[in-house]
Amino acid sequence: MLLQELSTASGVSGDESAVRQIIHQAISPHVTDLHVDSMGSLTALKKGTGAVPLRVMLDAHMDEVGFVVTGFENDGLIRFAAVGGFDERILLGKRVKVGKKAHAGVILSTPIHFGRDAAVKPIKDLRIDIGANSKANAESAVALGERIVFDSEYVALSETMVRGKAFDDRVGCSLLVDVLQSEAPYPVDVLASFSVQEEVGLRGAKVAANRLKPDVAIALEGTTAHDVPLADADPDDLTVPTPVARVDGGPVLTFMDASFIAPPKLLAFARRTAEQHGIPYQLKQALGGGTDAGAIHMTRSGVPCLVVSMPCRYIHSPQAILSLTDYQHTLALVKHLLHSLTPDVIRHD
Ligand SMILES: [Zn+2]
Repeated sequence: MLLQELSTASGVSGDESAVRQIIHQAISPHVTDLHVDSMGSLTALKKGTGAVPLRVMLDAHMDEVGFVVTGFENDGLIRFAAVGGFDERILLGKRVKVGKKAHAGVILSTPIHFGRDAAVKPIKDLRIDIGANSKANAESAVALGERIVFDSEYVALSETMVRGKAFDDRVGCSLLVDVLQSEAPYPVDVLASFSVQEEVGLRGAKVAANRLKPDVAIALEGTTAHDVPLADADPDDLTVPTPVARVDGGPVLTFMDASFIAPPKLLAFARRTAEQHGIPYQLKQALGGGTDAGAIHMTRSGVPCLVVSMPCRYIHSPQAILSLTDYQHTLALVKHLLHSLTPDVIRHD
């Protein structure tokens, strides 16, 4: 299954080639104009029938959050830094793959001979153990600047629920591949961008959008669900509402986040399209975070954008959970949007 292959591939921001190769192979029979741009984003055209004169960019980012090797201790432990956003509390004791050779390792806290400390350690004070017994030994296995990813399996938890890493945003990549693999052309031209470096500042999509010159764009994302009760949740703290979105609640539409505000008419069109086709959907309840739409909508003279996300629990951790029912609903919505978009819905009233 493609989602499994994409989820288990390593692709920390700036080093997305393994993911790019999988996608290239999956889409090449179904598209033209395959291109890898100067930053590494993979773009392609699925030519439309010409019935509707729109160039629609569909974006999904290939990169995942992870780490980068920043140094070596004399005892062979590895220093590292975050690539993308992390909560340090989830890191201790986790299995990782280190460097180009995917050397097995585990994240330690500060060695015990520095004393016990109940406080959460910042990443700069954490170390990774790859079983090397000296600095030279570690340096022969791993190089400075190489990436580190979580060592996670993809597991079916039930008929519809799966667990794996990097669903943010490999689920978007998988959806976009499915859109491109459709036999019949869409009325519009679909400009696909499998973008790099989203997690470090929406960088790849910006460059890709400047080159593709779309009339309208849809960012396909894996977003936080946060729909499980937390024992320590403060019911009076409304800054992060619970839930942000619900797993099995259908695709998530964004009206506003920290990077972007959806054009009301375009958002209303997306909601209407879902309702007309009986597709459950939800509106994202948190206003934080950002997506590639945050960069794309301000390229050139501006691009109207939508964000369509899959609700995923525990993103930016070694294992997230999503629903394949949501997947089918999200795919159906994106295809219906492509069949229904018109120049009118991207015009402001
Ligand atoms: Zn993302």
